[in-house]
Amino acid sequence: MNTETDGKCRLCQQFDKTIDHIISACPILAKEQYIKRHDRVCAQLHFNICKETGVQLDKEHWYEHVPKSVETSQGGKVTILWNQQVQTDRIIPSNKQDIIIRDNEKGTYMLIDLQSQETEM
Ligand SMILES: [Zn+2]
Repeated sequence: MNTETDGKCRLCQQFDKTIDHIISACPILAKEQYIKRHDRVCAQLHFNICKETGVQLDKEHWYEHVPKSVETSQGGKVTILWNQQVQTDRIIPSNKQDIIIRDNEKGTYMLIDLQSQETEM
């Protein structure tokens, strides 16, 4: 099936066509597609968390779900924040979390942040 012989990525034509390159390192896909994928994964996760914690949802399927900034479960046990900045006592470069789950009874928080693409360390 693979008829290309040079083994370079068809989109950027700079790097070898490896799985790692295609799923997370192509400069052409990085401009838009990785961000879209990241946002859809986060929206699905948000949908499932809402469902599990008893938040009233207007849509039946995750792919129709548009996360709201703040959701509260029925009865108020859990608050779910979407794409919110966290206040810290020192400067942190990325203090915006994708999803924050606050347990209102225990007063605890769970922070969830997904990477949109591979980051060079
Ligand atoms: Zn590429």
